[in-house]
Amino acid sequence: MPLHYAESLIRDVPDFPKPGIVFKDIAPLLQDGQAWITVSDALTRAAVDMGPSKLLGVESRGFLFAAPIAYKMGAGVVLVRKPGKLPWKTVTTEYALEYGTDSIEMHIDALTPGEPVVIVDDVLATGGTAEATAKLVEAAGGTVAGFVFLIELKGLSGRNRLGERPIFSLFSY
Ligand code: AMP
Repeated sequence: MPLHYAESLIRDVPDFPKPGIVFKDIAPLLQDGQAWITVSDALTRAAVDMGPSKLLGVESRGFLFAAPIAYKMGAGVVLVRKPGKLPWKTVTTEYALEYGTDSIEMHIDALTPGEPVVIVDDVLATGGTAEATAKLVEAAGGTVAGFVFLIELKGLSGRNRLGERPIFSLFSY
C-alpha cells in the first residue's frame, strides 16, 4: 500500500480536546490493517538505522507503534506511563504543560547502563513529552539513540527541544 494512502486515513478533528487544537486522529489508519503495516514498516526502517536495543513507547498511542517496531527488530519494548500505572519501582520526570505540570514514569530496571533506545510516539507537537521521556531514559542510565514519530506538527518546533539526536517523522504538517 502506498504511504500516501495510509496518510490519507489520518483524520483532522478541529477543536479537540479544546478550542484551537486540531487533533490528528489516527484511529481510521489503525482500523485499516494494511495501512498500519505500511506505516509500522516505514517507522521500523527509520528505527533500525538508529541502532537501538529497545524501543520506548509513550502512553498510550506510542505503544501502538513501539510494539510492531520492536517485534520486527527482535528488540525489547519499554512502557513509559502516566503516574501510578506501573507496578514496580520507577523513575519519574515532571514536565511543564500550558497550565501546571504532568509527569511520566518508567520502571527503574527497564534499561541496562548505557543501553541505546529509540523513543516512539504518534505525534511530535511541542516536544515536551519527548523531551521529558529523554530525561527519563538518562535518569535510568540509558542513552537516547533517536526519536521516531508517525506525525510531526512542524509549526510547534518540537524538534528544537530534542537536541542533536536523530529525529524521524513519517508525515509532517
Ligand atoms: P507534545 O508534548 O506537545 O509534543 O505532545 C505530544 C503528545 O500529545 C503526544 O503523545 C500526542 O499523542 C499528543 N498530541 C499533541 N498534540 C496532538 C494533536 N494535535 N493531535 C493528536 N495528538 C496530539
